Amino acid sequence: METVSELRKKFVAGEYTPTEAIEKSFSVIKEKDSDINAFLEVYEDALEQAKAATDRYIKEGDAAPALLGVPFAIKNNILIKGKKATGASKILENYTAVYDATIIKRLKAAGAIFVGATNMDEFAMGGSTENSAFGPTKNPLDTERVPGGSSGGSAAAVAMGAVPAAIGTDTGGSIRQPASFCGLVGFKPTYGAVSRYGLMAMGSSLDQAGPLTNSVADAELIHGVMAGKDEMDATTLESDSYPEVAVKEKMTFGVPRQFLSDGVDEDVLKVFNQHVAELEAAGHKIVDVDLPIFEKGLAAYYIVMPAEVSSNLARYDGIRYGFSAEGDNLLDVYEKSRAEGFGAEVKRRILLGTHVLSSGYYDAYYGKAELVRKKMRAELNEVFKTVDIILTPTAPTPAFKLGEKSDPLAMYRQDIFTVPVNLTGVPALTFPMGSVEREEKTLPIGVQYIAPHGGDSRLFAAGKAIYDAR
Ligand code: GLN
Repeated sequence: METVSELRKKFVAGEYTPTEAIEKSFSVIKEKDSDINAFLEVYEDALEQAKAATDRYIKEGDAAPALLGVPFAIKNNILIKGKKATGASKILENYTAVYDATIIKRLKAAGAIFVGATNMDEFAMGGSTENSAFGPTKNPLDTERVPGGSSGGSAAAVAMGAVPAAIGTDTGGSIRQPASFCGLVGFKPTYGAVSRYGLMAMGSSLDQAGPLTNSVADAELIHGVMAGKDEMDATTLESDSYPEVAVKEKMTFGVPRQFLSDGVDEDVLKVFNQHVAELEAAGHKIVDVDLPIFEKGLAAYYIVMPAEVSSNLARYDGIRYGFSAEGDNLLDVYEKSRAEGFGAEVKRRILLGTHVLSSGYYDAYYGKAELVRKKMRAELNEVFKTVDIILTPTAPTPAFKLGEKSDPLAMYRQDIFTVPVNLTGVPALTFPMGSVEREEKTLPIGVQYIAPHGGDSRLFAAGKAIYDAR
């Protein structure tokens, strides 16, 4: 699989041009996407930009911006001025973005070319991309299986070879789980490292955008372009405002054993244990760590997240944005627009969120979940006094079949290892650590590396040494 760095080298050397790269993206999409459905829209104007980028390399060579001419696919909950931004929802089916998200501005300034918008679970709610109003995406490695979600279209776009990199968002695992299911690198930055301005808000205290790539070095490069303080998002931080997190050659990895017992696929556990053994053989130290409160992560997430969802999605009322149903009066318009515009999972979460925030239940649910969140942070800080990186599988199973998880709770269990990371705001990286055989297909399995707050560069250093250098 081609990496961004390899592509860049070829562009600079004049061996290959952005025009050829974009033409190749288009031809892969044409050949494969009628079956995969990774893309909601393909941007034909990418070719014009590619021609300009090709000319620019002739003039500027190595001095050209870092991502000049590199084809990217963008999750459709990220605003690109003048392009449709649907969030894979019927309610925004015909909505066109009127400004660029900050990360889009920064990617454009670095020369990236967007070849299309990718499919996703509606408003990023889900773990399989089956909750899209525009049909599910299939996993390119086995088309009977899901690519994961909610950034499943972005993962499939990279895995099918249409682009070397895609952007996703991660509220509870939506970059990392699809990366794991599609054999990719995925990165969820420290909360506040990347601006959320121009992202469709799901859970504002949890959301971050990040890359899906074929190498850790690419993820680092792209994250570097997108990250940093943004005056349009008050929660963003200066990149040098973090406490120092040392990068070491030999590290101490913490494994939360008690957390790995329940409901984890046996083959996933085998691959995970093998990875731990390899780390030990390479001279790293492995220790067991105790994170008892982490078992409550899933429960806390499925209270905090819907609470924020119910508030964030109040703006889609059939008046200000997108789809508007005919009604007898204003209330009727609101009700019908939301009833017809939202899919079942989105409605479920709005209802749950409204309930946990309602007077009389607030303390019992939302208040308690926030308390759990606080305790998780404290536990994590304690563990990070003695370990450099915490290790878990990224997801408890390999990619599952389309339609297999019709029970919402079974779907939510997918997020067991990823949601504690968003609840505590720390960064996490996933990359393939091995694979399992299922019905004569080889399915990749991802490992998750978690670092302390602001430890993004520690994850990149570890990932490059352990995955890229393999
Ligand atoms: N699968 C999780 C959920 O459904 C995570 C979603 C996300 O990160 N956007 O909420």
